[in-house]
Amino acid sequence: MDYFKDQIPLLKPWIDDDELGEVEAVLKSGWISQGPKVAEFERLVAGLIGAPQAVATNSATTALHLAFQVAGLRRGDKLVVPAHTCMATINAVIMAGGDPVFADIERRSFNLDPLAVEEVLGGARGICLVHQIGLPADVDAFQALARKRGVFLVEDAATAFGAKYRGKYLGAHGDPTVFSFHPRKMISTAEGGLVVLADPQWADRARRLRSAGADISDLNRHQAKGTLQQVYPEPGYNYRLTDVQAAIGIAQLRKLARMLEMRARQAAYYGACFAGHEEIVPPFVPDYATPCYSSYCVTLPAANHAAITAVLEYMAERGISCRRGIPSLCQEPYFRPTHAHVPLPNTDRVAETTLFLPIYPGLTEAQQCRVVEALVEAVGKHLPRGGP
Ligand SMILES: *Cc1c(COP(=O)(O)O)cnc(C)c1O
Repeated sequence: MDYFKDQIPLLKPWIDDDELGEVEAVLKSGWISQGPKVAEFERLVAGLIGAPQAVATNSATTALHLAFQVAGLRRGDKLVVPAHTCMATINAVIMAGGDPVFADIERRSFNLDPLAVEEVLGGARGICLVHQIGLPADVDAFQALARKRGVFLVEDAATAFGAKYRGKYLGAHGDPTVFSFHPRKMISTAEGGLVVLADPQWADRARRLRSAGADISDLNRHQAKGTLQQVYPEPGYNYRLTDVQAAIGIAQLRKLARMLEMRARQAAYYGACFAGHEEIVPPFVPDYATPCYSSYCVTLPAANHAAITAVLEYMAERGISCRRGIPSLCQEPYFRPTHAHVPLPNTDRVAETTLFLPIYPGLTEAQQCRVVEALVEAVGKHLPRGGP
């Protein structure tokens, strides 16, 4: 069954016989939980990225939890985060016992503003730098700030697997860096996450915490023919990825270069189409960044919440699935009572004026053309002319 007949979805995972073959082999192997395929997937990701250690988990949320814990976040510690992010980032902070402190983002890149972070950093234990919408943030600026102030830096690159900062993959710059393999992200294992690290002791601790706190894995015990007995230096969780999922990931990695190339081409095509329309602004790309375009977010500078709703409805009527940009977490019911008045002008502005357009491997230029035409019509119909 094709879920997307005549429709242009927002995203579509690229799964073919390669994934089916890998999964079949695992299912027939007799080892389906975390085992040799997870270890192979970790080695492949670490090797690709140029990171010394990789620890795969069942989601980016749980990988972030492990990253915060091994980096030294303790109960009650403040951690500086953007409000322009997925609730999952903050859920992981809270799971690790931390207290999120929100800082504003840059108006054009939508990533954390180093000056805004510095202003609220007093008394915080660390910074969670989110590389949002597949676009690397300014890693050097945040590493310098973290060093100067003696705080840790964890990078949430959930959306940015395969994106590069100054020519190197995110995750290669030394800080614990987390990726998501949810279908909305770059490559997918259906659900899954992974943290890359430089410090082998932090990686060992993350591996223990991932698996009940046990000091040896099921695979090691199996390989030792049951003669090894695990001990528990501290309590942990069950955050294990399965070999079935890792097998999908291994096949997905073989497609990564083609995915990056297709998405870059699609982004360039959208960019060229919108060049003559100043009411539609394509994503900004700083000199230091090579985005992976896991998604594609445009700004309609003259829009507000109601105008974006009207545009989304117009697109949906034409069979094109779009999404509103990322809302400020300070406006969520959980945070509103305590955080509604934190001044985050850029975060609020971006939430009011942005929307995601379809981008995925296999999206054709003809389909992109339909998206562009419909968006230009929608903007002409629903937005005031001449800007705000
Ligand atoms: C999607 C996402 C997450 C959570 O990923 P899961 O794998 O669904 O847990 C965390 N942070 C950011 C920025 C995300 O976009």
